[in-house]
Amino acid sequence: MANKEDFIQRSLVVLKPDTVQRGIVGEIIQRFERVGLKIVAMKMVMPDEKLYRMHYEDIGQMITRRGEQVFRYNVEYMMTGPVIAMVLEGIEAVPLVRKIVGPTEPKSAEMGTIRGDFSHMSFGYSDAKGVGVPNLVHASGNPEEAKKEIDLWFNANELYDYSDLREKYTR
Ligand code: ADP
Repeated sequence: MANKEDFIQRSLVVLKPDTVQRGIVGEIIQRFERVGLKIVAMKMVMPDEKLYRMHYEDIGQMITRRGEQVFRYNVEYMMTGPVIAMVLEGIEAVPLVRKIVGPTEPKSAEMGTIRGDFSHMSFGYSDAKGVGVPNLVHASGNPEEAKKEIDLWFNANELYDYSDLREKYTR
């Protein structure tokens, strides 16, 4: 029989420069808290190009998936300001967080998702403009990527184990 702890996952979430600069950090974090996800790490940082290359290419294979130009636009967008990095924990948290965030292109993201509710830009428009599409949040794509991303963004002593009162009702 599977152990219940086998279902508990951690996901890396980054509130991108557009979220910070639009002043909607609180509204976005609320979306994760209200489903019962637990914040186990959080900090504001302004990573350099090297970290973004490791994050999006070494781990995320973005050049293979989206091409060199889109990769470059995206790194330029991410470097326009500080971001809030956090680690969220919960039951099958990696796919759950992706569901809350919604698909990559704001134009296609359903209402009710963060990207659908707070943005509307299309890939066609952002590519014509020569920018990364501002879509508010990064969220780990799968559990293996999540582990690598958390290791890249956080030191072990920045991650906290604690009991959350809501776990009584959600776990
Ligand atoms: P996701 O962030 O949904 O996992 P990707 O890893 O494929 O998506 O892409 C990383 C980021 O690059 C996206 O979140 C988005 O901000 C930007 N991006 C992806 N594809 C495009 C595109 N065609 N044009 C502009 N920006 C893009």
